Amino acid sequence: MWTRVASGRGVGAGRMCAGLLAMALLGGCGGASDNDRKDREARPTPTGAPGGAGFEVSYERPADADRGEAGFLRERKALESVADSLNRFVRLTHRVPVVARSCGGEGSGYDPNSRRVEICYDQAAEERRLFERAGHHPADAEVAAVIAETLYHEAGHVLIDDLTLQLTDRAEEDAADRFAALLMLRQGPEGERQLRAAVEEYELSAADGDAGSGGGDAGGSSGAKDEHAPDRLRAANHLCYLYGSAPQRNPEAANSPLLTPTRAAGCATEWAHVRTAWMTDLAPLLRER
Ligand SMILES: [Zn+2]
Repeated sequence: MWTRVASGRGVGAGRMCAGLLAMALLGGCGGASDNDRKDREARPTPTGAPGGAGFEVSYERPADADRGEAGFLRERKALESVADSLNRFVRLTHRVPVVARSCGGEGSGYDPNSRRVEICYDQAAEERRLFERAGHHPADAEVAAVIAETLYHEAGHVLIDDLTLQLTDRAEEDAADRFAALLMLRQGPEGERQLRAAVEEYELSAADGDAGSGGGDAGGSSGAKDEHAPDRLRAANHLCYLYGSAPQRNPEAANSPLLTPTRAAGCATEWAHVRTAWMTDLAPLLRER
């Protein structure tokens, strides 16, 4: 059975399942069959943690339409770099395959049954279209940043699963977003740049949804079947964490229309609570503080 907790990004955002507990009750939410998985070209990279546990990246052969983005992701090593930072941060007792593949619009996601993460070449293509429409040429850095944020978000689901944190669907999605912010902000200015790109992507997706021109369920803000927060709120949350973690480096964030002055004034405290909550939950798994 194939179930997934999707990222809420990309072309498959409207087809997402409910979260872990609901999925255990309801079963699958569609997705690829076993046959779809036979024609694969799994090539583990050297990024797996010692002893075979931890996040390990591999690449399936892309569909013809996805060759460009598959080559881009491989060359950029965006996934390997995220897997490395995760493996340095937490000690897992099992292997978590991170499989880059053509998903045919399902959307990147985490499967709690097989405990594997899928990152979609077609998501990269969708993100590139979004950023290019907004005037980013080339959009390589933005695409790589959003793919990194997506993998961090899915890793958040993995850890929520491992730690058996009992969260409702929406609470789990919010927690996975906060985990992504935590890991990105640990990377310093480069992570801050990536988080800014993720904020912009949510803003663009929200605008796309508002305009009704997103090509179907492209992660728009209406979210009738979506357990994630609306895109504009996800953007605001990430921006608040970015600002709250280093107000001096990111003063422009306080002037964003995404944040009310009252919320901006409280972002340092909000971020401190978010960070402490995750670090407390993660304590049994932490390699680094
Ligand atoms: Zn999620």
